Amino acid sequence: MENWKDSILNEHQRLAPDSKFKFSCHKGIDCFGECCGDVNIFLTPYDVLRMKRALNLPSKEFLEKYTLPLILQDQQLPVSLLKMGDDENKKCPFVTPDGCMIYDDRPWACRMYPLGMASSKTETGGEEFCFIADTIALCNGFKEDREWTVEEWLTDQNVAIYNKKSEAYMQLTLHKCFQDGKGIGPSKVQMFYEACYNLDQFREHLFNSNFFDLFDIKDNTIEKIRTDDEELLDFAINWDDEELLDFAINWLRFALFGENTIKVKDEAWEKKKGDLGLKI
Ligand code: SF4
Ligand code: SF4
Repeated sequence: MENWKDSILNEHQRLAPDSKFKFSCHKGIDCFGECCGDVNIFLTPYDVLRMKRALNLPSKEFLEKYTLPLILQDQQLPVSLLKMGDDENKKCPFVTPDGCMIYDDRPWACRMYPLGMASSKTETGGEEFCFIADTIALCNGFKEDREWTVEEWLTDQNVAIYNKKSEAYMQLTLHKCFQDGKGIGPSKVQMFYEACYNLDQFREHLFNSNFFDLFDIKDNTIEKIRTDDEELLDFAINWDDEELLDFAINWLRFALFGENTIKVKDEAWEKKKGDLGLKI
């Protein structure tokens, strides 16, 4: 029987970077805004970071208002879905008569359209390619004359920065526990959501615990933040969301899979061994 990865590859026609297609979407086109509703848009952590920042909302508030947490059945992977409205057309909360109100920070999937991405990637290999979305009958953008290559479209839509900022997260989702469909178990799912999506809460947990006594984060920062409350506060506030997200993914690899992505301080490790009566 065909597995889910094979079916992803077999369902779609592969496009190369220089493959051409015709498409244009603009105000005034008959269907303007119609595709921004009743659609499943999975959000990457970087999507959430950009959107909550654009809306100037704390991540908790953004997540509660605009997203649905789900577990993908095949992979047991925790994901975040953009919540559509409960009106008849199930409109995206960000669509307006003038277009997307967070256009500069719209999610990866919205940037890609009318292209989609099929992937059979694993941690060690696999394939990934773009394809044309199967919405040609509904989208008048395909009737326009503007011609693009796949590469030109991705550049025009600023997709590269989204791909780059999501690399570590995507790699995490390729871990064999998700690929085998075993998942991480309910107790760790909450940790996954917080570190990937609820960055403000993750930051708060780090700074309101003894985390920095246990882990070797940066050579001199740890001393500064331990001895000076103001520095601690500044550091917590100024720790850039994007830097924090990279750290969060490393933390998850350590906490979920026991990988060596975060260093435990020697003295904390010695104490732990002593507490457990270990002689290693
Ligand atoms: S359906 Fe196509 S052309 Fe119409 S608004 Fe959506 S993307 Fe643009
Ligand atoms: S985020 Fe913007 S582009 Fe994406 S579905 Fe909503 S309104 Fe449309």
